[in-house]
Amino acid sequence: MTTFLRLLFRNKLAGLGAVVLGLILVLVLIAPLLPLPDPNVTATGDRFLRPFSEGHLLGTDHLGRDLMARLMHGTRVSLAIGLISAFAAAFVGSAIGIIAGYFGGRIDNLIMRGIDMLMAFPYILLALAIVAALGPGLMNALIAVAAVNVPFFARNIRGITVSLAGREFIDAARLAGLGHTRIITSELLPNVLPVIVIGISTTVGWMILETAGLSFLGLGSQPPDADLGSMLGEARAALITAPHTSVVPGLMIFLIVMSINLLGDGVRDALDPRLKSGALSRPRATTLVDRKGAVPEADQKGLLNLQELETQFHVGPRIYRAVNRVSLHVNPGECLGIIGESGSGKSVTALSVMGLVASPPGVVTGGAVRYGGEDLLSASYESLRAKRGENVAYIFQDPLATLHPLYKIGDQLIEAIQSHHDTSRTEARAKALELLKSVRIPNAEQRLDNFPHEMSGGMRQRVGIAMALANDPDVIIADEPTTALDVTVQAQILALLDELRRERGLAIIFITHDFGVVAQLCDRVAVMYAGQIVEEGPTMAVLDAPAHPYTKRLIACVPELGGGRRELATIPGLPPVVDNLPEGCAFAARCDKASETCRTGTIALKGTAREGMALEGMAARAVRCLFPEEAI
Ligand code: ADP
Ligand code: MG
Repeated sequence: MTTFLRLLFRNKLAGLGAVVLGLILVLVLIAPLLPLPDPNVTATGDRFLRPFSEGHLLGTDHLGRDLMARLMHGTRVSLAIGLISAFAAAFVGSAIGIIAGYFGGRIDNLIMRGIDMLMAFPYILLALAIVAALGPGLMNALIAVAAVNVPFFARNIRGITVSLAGREFIDAARLAGLGHTRIITSELLPNVLPVIVIGISTTVGWMILETAGLSFLGLGSQPPDADLGSMLGEARAALITAPHTSVVPGLMIFLIVMSINLLGDGVRDALDPRLKSGALSRPRATTLVDRKGAVPEADQKGLLNLQELETQFHVGPRIYRAVNRVSLHVNPGECLGIIGESGSGKSVTALSVMGLVASPPGVVTGGAVRYGGEDLLSASYESLRAKRGENVAYIFQDPLATLHPLYKIGDQLIEAIQSHHDTSRTEARAKALELLKSVRIPNAEQRLDNFPHEMSGGMRQRVGIAMALANDPDVIIADEPTTALDVTVQAQILALLDELRRERGLAIIFITHDFGVVAQLCDRVAVMYAGQIVEEGPTMAVLDAPAHPYTKRLIACVPELGGGRRELATIPGLPPVVDNLPEGCAFAARCDKASETCRTGTIALKGTAREGMALEGMAARAVRCLFPEEAI
C-alpha cells in the first residue's frame, strides 16, 4: 500500500488531482456544518445577485437561491451519484465478466450476446430510454448510468478472465479440489482486481458527466433539489445576462472531472506491475553515465578494452554493485570467456559496453570502455547507435525473446542490414540469404520467409548469430548463447562461432557458466564473482592449475566424460547479494581456506603486470586471493 501511494504521488499531476478532489470532498462533507442558507429557499427579490454580494458569496440564481449552498449540495449529490453508479456498474459488470470468462462455452455465449445487445444501442440514447421508461428522478438516472456502463466492465473483465482461466495455476487449484466459488474468489479475483480498480478510476469522471447530462435535460434530479447538471440546465436561460449562474456549476464539474481523471491515470500507472518493479519511466536509449572519479588513462591493450568499469543499479535507497571495477580486453581474432555463477554480473558487464543496461535503474559510475581507443562511455548517443551492431554486436540467450514475433526473419535481417548500410532491398536480401547460409541454415531461401515461431530453438539461435554478423562487426559479445539449447545443437553453434572467428578475425567475448564450453572455445578466460574478476588467464593454464578457490570449485562442477564414477562437486552456500557486499573477499563465506585476513580490507587482483610473459606472447595470469591454490 505504501509503495502504491509512493508511486502514485511521484506522478505530480496525479498528486494534484488527488489534492483537488480531496479538497472538494472535504468541503462537501463539512457543508452541513457551514453557516450556509437553505439551498431551496427562494427569495424573488434577490434574483441574480452577483458573486461576493452581501450574504451570498457566489451570488444567487434566478429564484434568488444562494448559489454557494446549492453548489455544495449539488456537488454532494453529483459526486455521490457518479461514485455509486461507477461502483454498481463495476460490481455487476465484473461479476458478469468473471462468470462468463470462467465458465466459458454456452454460458459465456449466452451472457455475452446479451451484453452485445446492450452495446448495440447508442450509449446515451440507451440511458435516455431507460430513464424515459422508469420516469425522471435521481435514482432512475443512477440506474440508467450504471446500466449503460455495465457492458464496458463485462467485456474488459471477461477478456482478462478468459486468458487467466486457461492458466496453469487455475488448473492446479481445480486439481487441488477447490470449488468454483473458491477458485473465483481466491484465485481469479485478486488477479482481476487491479483491472477493475483501473476501470473504475478511469470511468468515474465520465459517469459524473453522464449523470450531469441527464439532469441537465431535466431527467435527473427534480426541482427544487440541486445537482450540478440541473443547476447548469436551469442557468441556461440566463447564460448571457447572469453568466455566473452557469460558470459556478460548470467550473465545479470541470474541476471534479479533471481531478478524477488525473488521479485515475495515476492510479492506473501505479497499479501497473511493470512500474511497481521500480522502473517508473521507460528506460533511456543509453545507460546513464555518472562517473564519480577520474576516467582511467587509456592503455592500448586490445581492440575492446574495459578499464575499472563500475556499473550499479540504484533502486530506491539501495545500491547494487553489479559490476565492480572490472578490467578486461579482447584482441582481434581472440575469444575471451567470462564465466561465473548466475548473478555474478556477467550480463551487466556485457551490456555496459554498448550502453544497453536499462537506466533507470542502471548507472555506470566509473571506469572506461574503449573501442579502438575511443571512450564509448563519453560517446554521443548517435555515435554509440552507429557502433551498435556495426562494430560490436550481441548474441543473447533467448532468441525467441530477441526476434520480433510478427516479422519474417528475412525482413528482420534486411532491417538490420539497412539500418547501417544504404543498400537496396534486393541487395540486402541477397546478403541476408548469404548470412543464413553462413550460419548453416538448411533451405536458407525458404527460411527467409519463416516467422521466428516456425523455427526450432537451434535454428533461431543461428538466426540470432546471423543477425549479429549482419554488419560484419569486429567484436561479438555472446551472452550465454547456448544455454537454452541441447548439447548437440550447442556443439554445432560453438563450432560455428569458432569457425567464424577464424574466417573473419572476429573478437568474441563469450559469456557462460559452463567451464566445458570455455575449454572448447576460448583462448583466455576471466572468472567473475559478485561483480569482480577473481581470476584471469589463458584457458588451458587456468583449467590445469586454477589459482582461485572459486575457480577450482567451478571446474570441479563439470562432469568428465569417461572420468569414472565420482560425486559431482557443488559449491555450498549462495553468492552474496550485491547491494550489501561483505568487506574483504566476497567468496570468503563459502571458502574453506578463508581466514580472518580474508574478511578485511580490499583484496587486489595480483599478477597482471608480467612484462616478460606478455613479450613471449603469453597472456598474463592474475588472481584475487590472499591464499591462492597455485602460485602464478
Ligand atoms: P549474470 O552473471 O547471471 O549475467 P547479471 O549481470 O544479470 O548476472 O546480474 C548481476 C547482478 O545485478 C545481480 O546480482 C542482480 O541482482 C543485479 N541486477 C541486475 N539487474 C538488476 C536490476 N534491474 N535491479 C537491481 N539489480 C539488478
Ligand atoms: Mg546473464
